[in-house]
Amino acid sequence: MYFPEQDTHLLNESEIDLLRIHSLETFGTHDGPGIRMVVFVQGCQFRCLYCQNPDSIDIHGGTLVTIDELVSKAVKQKAYFGKQGGVTVSGGEPLLQRAKLVHFFDRLHENGINTCLDSNGRVLDDHTKELLDRTDLLLLDVKHINPEWHKKLTSLSNTTTLKIAEHRESTGKPMWLRYVFVPGYTDQEKYLHEWAKHFSGYKTIERVEIIPFHQLGKHKWELMNMEYALADTPSPTTEALENVKAIFSLYLDNVTIK
Ligand code: SF4
Repeated sequence: MYFPEQDTHLLNESEIDLLRIHSLETFGTHDGPGIRMVVFVQGCQFRCLYCQNPDSIDIHGGTLVTIDELVSKAVKQKAYFGKQGGVTVSGGEPLLQRAKLVHFFDRLHENGINTCLDSNGRVLDDHTKELLDRTDLLLLDVKHINPEWHKKLTSLSNTTTLKIAEHRESTGKPMWLRYVFVPGYTDQEKYLHEWAKHFSGYKTIERVEIIPFHQLGKHKWELMNMEYALADTPSPTTEALENVKAIFSLYLDNVTIK
């Protein structure tokens, strides 16, 4: 039987120069500051009910590409990145390939390219710390503050995600927090207060992004013949989004709705 909780090294074992990716976006503007090349890596051990890319979950899927190839694509695009942009690695879950990403981020830095990591905080070990040292900006998805709800929503606990936030804070390097707002799942006022309060003393959080749930990924679940639990869940109303923004803003600065 497969035990994802115990299996966090799966994609680190071999082929240090190859990354398993789902797709590439060349002029991304949604994942970090400025214009960015976004590498969506393949493989994730969360099972978020609202996942928009369920085809990025299978750790054996996707395509293997060389880090050389990705670096040379980024270098060609560098002129468009401007002062703020660079490369973001998103997913799937990047930390499943953390040892390889250390190498990738080193190569990007050698070429003067800013690095950003968009992660659900799946695993914290020495490789994660090495990667975070090379991550100019961490985008950390904290999907729920309550452990039971987090598990209901993603299938795994939020313990490591919160430890990664704590570790990042201890390094003094910047992060943005991300929160997907899903009616019926992440909209409980009590937990919204708890979520924001948990981070209220942090000094490294530069921005908090509230991401409204939508149904754009629904067709992928259908195509993959997977049961989609949120088929009837509506997008949040403007009032509900303004309300979560107001709650988060009681404790945190620079809260935005994406
Ligand atoms: S962490 Fe991201 S890729 Fe993984 S299941 Fe959740 S939404 Fe999908």
